[in-house]
Amino acid sequence: MMNGKQYRESLKKLKPIIYCNGEKIEDVTTHPMIRPHVNSAAMTYELASDPLYQNLMTARSHLTGKTINRFTHIHQSKEDLVSKVKMLRMIANKTGTCFQRCVGLDAMNATFMTTYDIDKKCGTEYHKRFVKWLEYVQENDLMIAGSMTDPKGNRSLKPSAQADPDLFTRVVEKRDDGVVLCGAKAHQTGMANSHEMLILPTTNLLPGDEAWAIACAVPVDAEGVTHIFGRQTNDQRRLQGHIDTGNAEYAIVGGETLTVLDHVFVPWDRVFMCGEIEFAQDYVTRFASYHRQNYGGCKVGNSDVLIGATALMADMNGTARASHVKDKLIEMTHLAETMYCCSLACSYEGHRTEAGNYYVDTLLANEVKLNCTRNIYEIARLAHDIAGGFIATLPYEKDLMAPETGDLIRKFLAANAEFDAVDRIKLARLIENMSGGTALAESMHGAGSPQAMKVMILRESNMDRKKELAADLADLFCEKEA
Ligand SMILES: Cc1cc2nc3c(=O)[nH]c(=O)nc-3n(C[C@H](O)[C@H](O)[C@H](O)COP(=O)(O)OP(=O)(O)OC[C@H]3O[C@@H](n4cnc5c(N)ncnc54)[C@H](O)[C@@H]3O)c2cc1C
Repeated sequence: MMNGKQYRESLKKLKPIIYCNGEKIEDVTTHPMIRPHVNSAAMTYELASDPLYQNLMTARSHLTGKTINRFTHIHQSKEDLVSKVKMLRMIANKTGTCFQRCVGLDAMNATFMTTYDIDKKCGTEYHKRFVKWLEYVQENDLMIAGSMTDPKGNRSLKPSAQADPDLFTRVVEKRDDGVVLCGAKAHQTGMANSHEMLILPTTNLLPGDEAWAIACAVPVDAEGVTHIFGRQTNDQRRLQGHIDTGNAEYAIVGGETLTVLDHVFVPWDRVFMCGEIEFAQDYVTRFASYHRQNYGGCKVGNSDVLIGATALMADMNGTARASHVKDKLIEMTHLAETMYCCSLACSYEGHRTEAGNYYVDTLLANEVKLNCTRNIYEIARLAHDIAGGFIATLPYEKDLMAPETGDLIRKFLAANAEFDAVDRIKLARLIENMSGGTALAESMHGAGSPQAMKVMILRESNMDRKKELAADLADLFCEKEA
């Protein structure tokens, strides 16, 4: 396993093409826009080498028997599924943001199951290839970006019907030694500081869409790959100081990229699906369900920090004893723990698959994420309510530091005299940054938009059985049957 330092060194050896704000990034580990995201991901390496956290952070590889980082593990039990959730909450407590590495973990577990199923039905050898690549990932403790989402163009059209066929990633050439890809993957969390990406389809596919049924592993610096780094709320504050950033060490959400694939060659031993459209829907559902499970771990871990910051702000404002403030803090906790309950439940209700790994209960996993699309917004709303309007109107850090204005700001932003005014400002910036634009949008769309969960919930809800239960109790339809 790598530690944090080794992870950073391993990134320096890669040569991905990354553009950010008109500039080509040479070293992600030192660039001020990407470094905070590297720091968050590095936490998944640092904690794995800390004896205090090894139970949660490491696992025994079912392939080699060696101790590996849990972010490269194929779940072998319900306890593994539960440990994943607890691990995510624990790391989020330390970073207060996304640490990115779960997407690849989920893509790997979904690929493990799906390649097994494809081989069983089609006599292919995708599973063997995938397992060999997985062993390499585990052995080298690689960070894998989970690359599902295509740009998608016109949402009502399937890939083969799009005006531009590249709007979904596709195979443009099959060669004796491999395939050539064109297209792009959007919103790629942690891509800039990953080692490889695991590409999988983004939607169910129909006859005619075979070229778009592609799953494969691609190094982030493969020829033909270009990454364009996304903006985040207040990201330029990173260039201007420390306090205004709110969480300067770790930034906000995952540092997403638009990753363009322009005639990227992938050798056959890295191709895990090629043309089998009938498996695309299950593949997507599995990845999405594993990923939705996470949100009651990491987002609850982030909420722990935000709730703590809000409670501390109430102390600083002198409002902590007011009953409505206590009630709102209880409500925030209730909303967070509800999501955690769902994540634990979908893990404990998981089951062993035919491929041998463990998979979450899909209905309950979708409940986690649907709750998240609402609860995180409500938690943020309550944080804003308790913190006060100054989180939206605070002066610049530069003015706080300036001789002409610094003392005035300290004087007029003082509240409860037991606390320092600058600490109050720092805390306000943390709340502002954890509860604002980018962080909220991630809770809405990360792992799928709410409607995607509702479709799954309807599919899994067994409505006919529910109708039967009611009909039996109400003694319905007897006459018709008689
Ligand atoms: C911060 C963040 C991180 C992410 N990280 C990753 C990642 O690491 N890897 C990855 O692969 N993806 C990632 N995603 C992508 C995420 O899975 C998508 O954002 C999500 O699936 C929604 O897709 P979209 O953004 O294209 O929105 P859209 O699909 O455009 O959805 C917008 C709205 O349109 C509706 N809609 C969409 N299609 C239809 C239709 N056919 N008919 C009617 N209504 C429709 C939706 O229900 C929604 O209300 C990330 C997203 C975010 C925001």
